[in-house]
Amino acid sequence: MDATKPLAILHALRSGRGRSDKVSARVRRLLVNELYSKPFTLAVGAFNGVAAASVAAWVSDIPELWIGSIALTVIAVARVSAALAFSPESRRTSTRALEFIYEIGAFSYALALGLVAAIAIWLSAPNAAQLLLGAYALCYGAAAACSNAGRPMIAIGQLPLVCVPIMIAALSAGTVAHLALFFIILLIVPAVTSISLNIFNVLRQSFAAAETSAKLADEMRALARTDVVTGLANRAGLNHAMVETMMSIDDDSHLALIWLDLDRFKEVNDLLGHPVGDRVLGEVARRLREICPEGSTISRFGGDEFVVFCPITDRAHAVTLASEIHAQLLGPMRIDGDRLDVRASLGVALLPEDGTDTDTLMQCADLALYHAKLEGRSKTCFFDRSMSRNLVRRREIEDELRVAIQRDELSVFFQPIVDLETGRIRSFEALIRWFHPEKGELSPDEFIPVAEESGVIVTLGNWITVQAARVAATWPDDVTLSVNLTPLQIRAPGAALGVRNALRESGLDPSRLELEVTESLFADDDETTAAFIEELSELGVKFALDDFGTGYSSLCHIDKYPFTKIKVDRNLVSGDEVGRKSEAIFRAVAELASTLEMEIVAEGLETSEQVEAVRATGCTLGQGYHFSRPVPDYLAAMLLAKEREGEVRKVGT
Ligand code: C2E
Ligand code: CA
Ligand code: CA
Repeated sequence: MDATKPLAILHALRSGRGRSDKVSARVRRLLVNELYSKPFTLAVGAFNGVAAASVAAWVSDIPELWIGSIALTVIAVARVSAALAFSPESRRTSTRALEFIYEIGAFSYALALGLVAAIAIWLSAPNAAQLLLGAYALCYGAAAACSNAGRPMIAIGQLPLVCVPIMIAALSAGTVAHLALFFIILLIVPAVTSISLNIFNVLRQSFAAAETSAKLADEMRALARTDVVTGLANRAGLNHAMVETMMSIDDDSHLALIWLDLDRFKEVNDLLGHPVGDRVLGEVARRLREICPEGSTISRFGGDEFVVFCPITDRAHAVTLASEIHAQLLGPMRIDGDRLDVRASLGVALLPEDGTDTDTLMQCADLALYHAKLEGRSKTCFFDRSMSRNLVRRREIEDELRVAIQRDELSVFFQPIVDLETGRIRSFEALIRWFHPEKGELSPDEFIPVAEESGVIVTLGNWITVQAARVAATWPDDVTLSVNLTPLQIRAPGAALGVRNALRESGLDPSRLELEVTESLFADDDETTAAFIEELSELGVKFALDDFGTGYSSLCHIDKYPFTKIKVDRNLVSGDEVGRKSEAIFRAVAELASTLEMEIVAEGLETSEQVEAVRATGCTLGQGYHFSRPVPDYLAAMLLAKEREGEVRKVGT
């Protein structure tokens, strides 16, 4: 830019202003804040002018200069007061207003200063006074042009206001010295303007660069806190939002932390592929967004888990919200024309009832979710204190179970399964017993699920099969052995090998072994299960369907695997469900069993009446306290020996 040409200056000024206006509101605000950042320097500069004018007025004794000095004082006081009154940090005053106030002060001060210096020349004040005011005015103009370079219009606008009156006065004075002054100022103005514009450009670029990196950093931060699949907050985003929420809430605020886990989502992924899985997650996210109250943070916590952290009015509100979430998710989802049913389990923790910090709330909601899943699918559990006690006990059991085998705390008991016609023992079911040195006898219903969860079930299961098979090998050949297997045991790598080893080691004929599996096997049906059953069936091992009549019993599964027995759960014999309905079920199952050439075992027979009742429905085998409780191996051997001696009690008498 050729700054010596007035047109070029004008253009630069205009483009400077134009460009400055192009800077973002944020940068502009920063630049304007700069103007207000040093009220002390402003005061020193402004009162210097007052001092110069007063001294000049005093030495020259020209009243107009006193008036000028007073005018400068008034403006200086007003400017300093304004600089102190308007805090640029406060967002209350707009950028434009701040800029305007500064402009008025700066322009009027510059003009007043220029006029005072011009008056000194016009009214032929002593040279010292002219020099003092002229020098000060020019210094002020140049300094202002540089120090206010952040806003070029203010910076460069002051320069002519200071200089033009002096130049006019110098021209009219007409002496050689005054004319020289005129030309010097004429050269100074464009030079200073050019310097000022250069400073402005440097400032603008560095602010813009800082802003770009700040923006980039913001974007990166937002990205790092967002889940790409659903657009919801991710784990980091949730943590951040929770901290922010916790800092902004009052003492009487109520919040709910809802931890949501989609039921059987793995199947969607495995069967339909990850892209479909991702779309399901996206749809779940959309539905959650629709129902969660304003101010909620909805996040995907990884996999198929979502966490909602939201303001609520009270516990009842959280209950309603949880049921709304279930209802929303239950609505059929159409993905690529396929209809998918999505269910979720919910664990809820409340602030302040369950905890007042986010870590505690997360732990509580996690525990509650864990219990919701234990209860079955599509359930909500609200945290309560007993859950942590349960968990502690579970953890203890988990740890102690690992060493229980070595410590000889476990043993296998046997309960006879009796032929209801002849009263003879046909087989024994192996049932694990744990005699804990401190906790006493622990129920398998309590520790088997823990063993499953921790994976110990595989070692434990193999141990049980070996122990039981060894005992069974000592029984008469027509007495068989039943061993319980959980779905997880069956799916574990080398499960079939474990059973084969037990048979080989004990020498038990495979046809004398029966494995009891539950219907939950069908829920997570896969090839491994089928391969396991096929491999062992080929060896001659038999399979029984255990606990029939609990859960989602469905007769259509029965011919899926080569079952030789159906064991009807004791609830249908002695539990709450007993009645006409259970009798009907028994009849139907017995009929089906005889058609499919299967046997049916009634579990939990405690009285002779029950024995009679189930026998009347066509049931062929029975098991229960009426015949014998589960007993250790030597008592099982005694039962057999007694029976063989013909001393066994007649059935039903
Ligand atoms: P289950 O397979 O249904 O075993 C039958 C359960 O009913 C046993 O409980 C048995 O003691 C009990 N029972 C038998 N007759 C009667 C009766 O007349 N009245 C009543 N009220 N109960 C009776 P237990 O031994 O406590 O086992 C509970 C469950 O734990 C078993 O249910 C089975 O699912 C699991 N379990 C037990 N032992 C093993 C094992 O060695 N391996 C595996 N995987 N699971 C086992
Ligand atoms: Ca069983
Ligand atoms: Ca059973």
